[in-house]
Amino acid sequence: MNFLLLLSTLFLAKPTDSLKTPFEKSGGKQSATYQECIAYYKQLSSFSSEVKVLQYGTTSIGKPLNLIVVSKEGISKSSEVNRENKAVLLINNAIHPGEPDGVDACMMLARDLVTKQEMKTLLDHVVLLIIPVYNISGALNRSCCTRANQDGPEEYGFRGTIQNLDLNRDFIKNDAAETFSFENIFTEWKPDWFVDTHVSDGADYQYTMTYIATQHNKLQPALADYQQKVLVPFMNAEMIKKNFEMVTYVNTINETPDSGIVEFLESPKFSTGYASLFNCIGFVTETHMLKPFAQRVNSTYAFLNCWMQKANDDYKTIRQLHVKADDSVAQQQLFSMNYKPDFTSVTTIPFKGYEAEHKPSDVTGAPRLFYNRDKPFTKQIPFFNSFIPTVEIQKPIAYIIPQYSKKLISIFQNNGVLMQELSKDTVIKVEVYYITDYKSTDHPYESHYMHHSVSVKKDTQMIRLYAGEVMVKVNQPANKFIVETLEPQSSDGFFAWNYFDGVLAQKEYFSDYVWEDKAFQLLQSDAQLKNLFEQEKKNNPDFIKTPAMQLDFIYKHSQYFENACNRYPVVRVVNF
Ligand SMILES: [Zn+2]
Repeated sequence: MNFLLLLSTLFLAKPTDSLKTPFEKSGGKQSATYQECIAYYKQLSSFSSEVKVLQYGTTSIGKPLNLIVVSKEGISKSSEVNRENKAVLLINNAIHPGEPDGVDACMMLARDLVTKQEMKTLLDHVVLLIIPVYNISGALNRSCCTRANQDGPEEYGFRGTIQNLDLNRDFIKNDAAETFSFENIFTEWKPDWFVDTHVSDGADYQYTMTYIATQHNKLQPALADYQQKVLVPFMNAEMIKKNFEMVTYVNTINETPDSGIVEFLESPKFSTGYASLFNCIGFVTETHMLKPFAQRVNSTYAFLNCWMQKANDDYKTIRQLHVKADDSVAQQQLFSMNYKPDFTSVTTIPFKGYEAEHKPSDVTGAPRLFYNRDKPFTKQIPFFNSFIPTVEIQKPIAYIIPQYSKKLISIFQNNGVLMQELSKDTVIKVEVYYITDYKSTDHPYESHYMHHSVSVKKDTQMIRLYAGEVMVKVNQPANKFIVETLEPQSSDGFFAWNYFDGVLAQKEYFSDYVWEDKAFQLLQSDAQLKNLFEQEKKNNPDFIKTPAMQLDFIYKHSQYFENACNRYPVVRVVNF
């Protein structure tokens, strides 16, 4: 080809031709590799100043976490966003790299936003942030087959990280470097809305796209109202127009959807559960694994497109709601947590499924379930989307975190929690919790023998605190994050994730033969103790039969017993 011809070819080429993604080039069969994905965004950023490729912190294999910023102004710093005039939206892809639909959808979306005239207007009042590939080590661990039930792409990454962690359980415990980097992005850019892109498992049905909207009972009332009455109905209506009618995530009560759907509760360990602690409304997109890859990517693209359109139209409302919610959380007195479905409250929704039938298994001979695609149906099915808290906490004025909890303190710093160190040793009256009962998982769950079903007893004590202990006042927009992570009964708090297991062991004991005489003296001299001892005898038949229990009871109710055993080390300041 001569030089002139080359020049004219380049001149005539439309940007979109040279900016085709691996997904498009393969006819919808392939998902971009991690390297292809990052190279593509770099190409896009050299093509358009509206796209920036940034790096935030590190990941578990030392590679930086990338953040793509798409904005009309070519913004590359959060401080450059005019929040009066712009909503900030964050999309996270490949937290589970076996579910890569969002990776490929976002590459096309970013390109179209800067090359297609009709799409450009979506950036008038939106700054779009994209984490192109979140679980990089998982994305690099590619194969054909780890998603046994999924229809494509030809190759994809693996769910776990190199530590074999599920990043979508790590948002409080912060075992992975990726989580710390994500929370750094989140704190700096303070997104108003968030989407985490996935592919579902489970039942068969007609829909390509299902979604989990932030469970509304957890949100500030005004945010919940907007989400329930405006945003979710808009998304459903718009997606019908784009031929991707949706339904809520198919979390069935029994084996099949006919039994009803319970809304999925994303507690704070999940990405959208974490985001909701900061008044950021989230969606999890869950495309259906039995639909072809191309159809799933296109439905994810359609969802993100509608979602941006709504944000661009409603940016003023979105910003007002976010600011108001932050203010009201800073003032809030009572905090609810550990939600469970309210099965007394039910509505019905239309559901487009396939008849579930049973037939003998060719493998085992036992009856097996199958969905008969020749028998599609639309039925009203029960939907449980009302949740109630099982723990309610009156906030203290402040918590004091022991300075030895370095990791916890750094997580708080990374999440923008305001803290101050005590300048001198002091003795103050505080509320403390004793852990009176708890259960733990039998096997490691995400690298932890996680605690649950925690019971506590509150006490007021004079406690010695040393210079350097860290005070966290509960008067901040981060209040929900503070209370839900520090209260020991929280199902996803630091206690549940084994941050304070040290307090759960007794350090000193007694020898029975020596203690016998002291115990007897104590019963003689302490009428209150004697009374408690007699009560226990009356109420507990085992107690009477077990001398060791009786001696232990007197020990634990005496001044000889250590008061730090089972005492939760984060204390509550309730008056100064
Ligand atoms: Zn997933």
